[in-house]
This record gives sequence, structure tokens and C-alpha cells, in this order.
Amino acid sequence: MFCPRCGREYRETVNFCCQCGAAMSSPPTAERKLTRSRHDKKIAGVCGGLGEYLAVDPTLVRLIWLIAVIFGGTGLLAYVIAWIVMPQEPEPKPAPAPVSAGAQPAPTP
Ligand SMILES: [Zn+2]
Repeated sequence: MFCPRCGREYRETVNFCCQCGAAMSSPPTAERKLTRSRHDKKIAGVCGGLGEYLAVDPTLVRLIWLIAVIFGGTGLLAYVIAWIVMPQEPEPKPAPAPVSAGAQPAPTP
């Protein structure tokens, strides 16, 4: 790969050019959505999804939520509301089909 700014060549994958500091490639910015987790759930996946969204340990979210339920009592209602409002995480997509190489039509002269 080459630096888009100064043209320095890198054999390994780097995020930033160490010569001029330019970003080599934009990091994958997957659209984050607040969804109920499919794979990390105890009841409905609300805490798991919230933990994933906030990039914190879902167990910590659960703990805080449980404390809120015990001491405040509003946590339970909030959980039910979140359960209803938050969509479920979409099904994990199967591996993307390999792009057929050489399928592009040759330019006609
Ligand atoms: Zn550079």
C-alpha cells in the first residue's frame, strides 16, 4: 500500500503514514444501531445490545440495571420499554459470496 499523500510505500498494513501522518485507509465505520443482542442475552438481549452499543461489558449494564430495579423500581419498566422499542439484532449474514473475478466485460473498442 502507498500513502495517498506522500507516496511512501508500506509492505505491512498501517493505519497512518508514519512519515506525514495521513490516514492510510478509513477504518470500517459500521453503522451502529441500538439493537437487542442475539448472542448475548439473559432475558431479551436489551442489556447485551446496550453493552455492545456503548462498548461496555454487558454484565456491567445488567448489574447497573438490576441495581436500578432493586433500588429505584423504574428499571423494570425501562427494561420492558426498551424490550418493545429496541429492534432485535439482525440475523448474522452468511459469508459474502466471492466476487467473480474477470466478470467485467472487456471495453469495446
Ligand atoms: Zn505519508
